Amino acid sequence: MIRVSEIRLPLDHAPDALPEALAQRLGVSVSDIGAFSVARRGYDARKRGRIFLVYTLDCTVPDEAAILSQHSDDPQIKVTPETRYEPVDVDVPALLAQPDFQRPVVVGAGPCGLMAALILAQMGLKPIILERGKPVRERTVDTFALWRKSELTPESNVQFGEGGAGTFSDGKLYTRVNDARHLGRKVLDEFVRAGAPEEILYLSKPHIGTFRLVSMVEHMRREIEAAGGTYRFYTRVEQLLLDEKRQVRGVRLSDGEEIQTRHVIMAVGHSARDTFEMLAEEGVAMEAKPFSIGVRIEHPQSLIDADQFGPQAGSEILGAADYKLVHRTEEGRGVYSFCMCPGGTVVAATSEPERVVTNGMSQYSRAERNANAGIVVELRPGVDYPDDPLAGVAFQRHWESQAFVAGGGDYKAPGQRVEDFLAGRPSTHLGTVTPSYRPGVTPTSLDSCLPDFVCAAIREALPVFASKLSSFALGDAVMTGVETRTSSPLKIPRKDDGESLNTPGLYPAGEGAGYAGGIMSAAMDGIRVAEAVALALAGRQANG
Ligand code: FAD
Repeated sequence: MIRVSEIRLPLDHAPDALPEALAQRLGVSVSDIGAFSVARRGYDARKRGRIFLVYTLDCTVPDEAAILSQHSDDPQIKVTPETRYEPVDVDVPALLAQPDFQRPVVVGAGPCGLMAALILAQMGLKPIILERGKPVRERTVDTFALWRKSELTPESNVQFGEGGAGTFSDGKLYTRVNDARHLGRKVLDEFVRAGAPEEILYLSKPHIGTFRLVSMVEHMRREIEAAGGTYRFYTRVEQLLLDEKRQVRGVRLSDGEEIQTRHVIMAVGHSARDTFEMLAEEGVAMEAKPFSIGVRIEHPQSLIDADQFGPQAGSEILGAADYKLVHRTEEGRGVYSFCMCPGGTVVAATSEPERVVTNGMSQYSRAERNANAGIVVELRPGVDYPDDPLAGVAFQRHWESQAFVAGGGDYKAPGQRVEDFLAGRPSTHLGTVTPSYRPGVTPTSLDSCLPDFVCAAIREALPVFASKLSSFALGDAVMTGVETRTSSPLKIPRKDDGESLNTPGLYPAGEGAGYAGGIMSAAMDGIRVAEAVALALAGRQANG
């Protein structure tokens, strides 16, 4: 097949426009275009009022070699590249026949653990998945109980339970991870098989939304179980069992049971603070990692749409507009928008009692009234808090507790109008923007919930953002806090073969270990560690 990129068409083009554009670019007649498909679709919105769809298309034509040679100088016309994922080659029947074979264990059923388990199950290696939280539907009830009734279940919430932290989310699926082996494509293919819309395979900024994620996670569980995997919910790993050479020999569970295994994938996410403490006590190598904290900001989505799309705002094919904003302060700190959710809601995302944490989610339709995004400031371990692996967790906890108090002590979030925040006065009421955070927002000052340097950096950044995106000049925009769980505050480093630096048999993985930031990169890391475990079981080394 031939791949043609940079085909620009108006938003309202007819379906026939695709083969016609292909024929024109390739210098053939439309009847020469055989099968064709969309490899990628994005848009170019640099000129308001003149937004174009930008396609990359694959097609067949008679005598492809001749056409390619005619266009050999055109970098936008090429042979369609191979994007298929090739699994590592391991003799599984021989492995299973070994008398001392022990099933690999995956701790955590978030995107990383789920994908690791799926790969191991597809290979036939029968993983055991240990998840502290509940199956996803039961978990949904607990998660909504915090939002609707201020009732937190510490083991079952936005962070913990089947599907992991990404389940109640916008389900954005983009990543900038280098992907020579097409792991991202494998993840997307599996998501589509599990029920995600096919468009995620070609949209430049795909997203799924919360409701579909729930049924996808269940579908993937059924496939893993059908291939010999075993799920154990309500099962927290409380100890890693090591022999005298620090080789993993098993895990101890919250009910005291021990499972013998020599291979543990630790995919516990960035909020498993008790598990981090346990690993530190066991002497597992870990180090402090920079992360960011700040607030969530909400604007009317219609304003963002008008800013980004001008007269074409409201176009069905463009959907709700997003944004990405970055500023470097005079002091040299990065301030940036994080996890922007068009047409979504701000959610209560704490996993610990008496703490308040914000994050954002949306449904597939992205049809809610407000746009929200984190506005967060980079932190520096060793400067802003001690350079100790667990010091970032203590720092997060401190500000999350402050936010709980400032919100009124009942899981409401402290909130402030942008105009008041910039003027340095507490908000006594909110304005035209109704915040979406449940169980509610208490108008106050955010200064007590964040370090002074973070507030100063956000105060410096907001006017700069307003000069780039005029919605940010809206004084009634609401900020709620605190946004602390942007990424893991620590890293559990591993060697090239995927194992922990000092604990053979332990495979730290995903966002909690500092190897991912988002659903896609976490899921891709899950494939990497699953392959590493398969190769280790076979006595071979991972090769990248
Ligand atoms: P997690 O998803 O955190 O999964 C870890 C799992 O391990 C959890 O299920 C937990 O219960 C379990 N666990 C923890 N400790 C133990 C233990 N000791 N024993 C057993 N089980 C344990 N990313 C995006 O790319 N796009 C988005 O739109 C997006 N929106 C988000 C919205 C919200 C509200 C949140 C909270 C996050 C969002 N993210 C988004 C981030 C994304 O969810 C994470 O990057 C991703 O889930 C990390 O995957 P993971 O598998 O590494 O960890």
